[in-house]
Amino acid sequence: MVFSIHLPTVLLVYKTALAAGAVGIYHVSRHSCRPRGLKPLALAYLLLALGAELAARGEYLALPPWLWTHGSLLLGTVAYPLFWASMRAFSGRRTIPIKTLISIPATLFIIGVLTQFPLNNLHRAGVFHATATVALLLASWDVWRDRRVEPQPSRGPLAAFLLLSACIYALRLGFIVSESAHASGFAWAFYIQMFCHFGVALMVAALSSERASERLEQLAHTDALTGVGNRLWLASRLPSQLPAGSAVMLIDLDHFKRTNDMHGHAAGDRVLAACAQCLRSQLRESDVLARFGGEEFVVYLPDTPADAAGVTAQRLCDAVARLNVATDAGPLGATVSIGLACIRKAGGNWTQWQHLADQALYEAKRQGRNRVVAADQLPPTAEPADASKP
Ligand code: GH3
Ligand code: MG
Ligand code: MG
Repeated sequence: MVFSIHLPTVLLVYKTALAAGAVGIYHVSRHSCRPRGLKPLALAYLLLALGAELAARGEYLALPPWLWTHGSLLLGTVAYPLFWASMRAFSGRRTIPIKTLISIPATLFIIGVLTQFPLNNLHRAGVFHATATVALLLASWDVWRDRRVEPQPSRGPLAAFLLLSACIYALRLGFIVSESAHASGFAWAFYIQMFCHFGVALMVAALSSERASERLEQLAHTDALTGVGNRLWLASRLPSQLPAGSAVMLIDLDHFKRTNDMHGHAAGDRVLAACAQCLRSQLRESDVLARFGGEEFVVYLPDTPADAAGVTAQRLCDAVARLNVATDAGPLGATVSIGLACIRKAGGNWTQWQHLADQALYEAKRQGRNRVVAADQLPPTAEPADASKP
């Protein structure tokens, strides 16, 4: 015995679920840190719910055929391209121009009015299913292909729900084209679509929440003035034991109090931020740069032998010395002193190497500033006896 379900009942549940999805997505859009695409998506859900309402009324013969057939097809063919465009924008891609979006349902509507094909159930269903299949496939692909740019956990399930939805429509399209579609099959298809659309709405909310958490974490780890990492971020990026063949630098702006005193704190802030960006631009992606305190920065260079670390430190020093920062007080320059500790033997912890770099920095200041001093150049007594111990 084939278990059948009642199409008007399924359409009732389907449109209720879509309306709830529209409200839910709209709510998420109002509180999301990246709401792009969400309001149009809520609208697409609403249009699909209205389309289902019209179709259900048609089933009950409560509306003239021309109204519910043309109307439900128009709503469906507006909703699914809008669905795709919204998912695409939500995923982080460029929006589709509104003219392109409107041209699809407008063309189908005009053809429908001229030929009256929507009055034929199979023709109307075929066009609707084809539009939905293509739009959902494109939406799924757009969400999936952005996973490298934004690898949030909900992206995969979101793409999967969209793909499943597209596959169900494609399957039904096959039955329609082969003229073997039954009303109970449509009911089952809408039933599964309800599950998919519910899943899409849920994953959209989950992805928004993951984005919010990531943003909070980013804010907690970023220094607001300079845009580079702060001490908390530095602690999260450092290995517990610094490996041999890496290096630590402490960088301090020279006579920065004088800059503040002579040109004002706001100008000092501009110089500080410009120095941070200059340092960042001279480093590799894998190098760690953080603001350590007032006008001090720390750099950790993984996989960098001593000679390369020395070259990098000098490059940083020279780059800052070339800066000409535009401020309200006129163009200002800056220089830095750098203390460098190269880790030749594994085992020392962060505090020990930082202490060594600090001593080298002190020596750079003592020698006249705007220079690099490596801890190797310090008198032997300056190196802590236990620097190589964990
Ligand atoms: P030295 O070459 O010996 O390092 O001299 P210095 O003047 O840079 O050293 P000092 O530690 O005496 O002064 C650091 C100054 O950095 C003091 C403080 O006002 C300034 N400073 C710290 N944080 C900020 C900031 O966020 N913005 C601005 N504008 N100034 C800051
Ligand atoms: Mg200073
Ligand atoms: Mg200082």
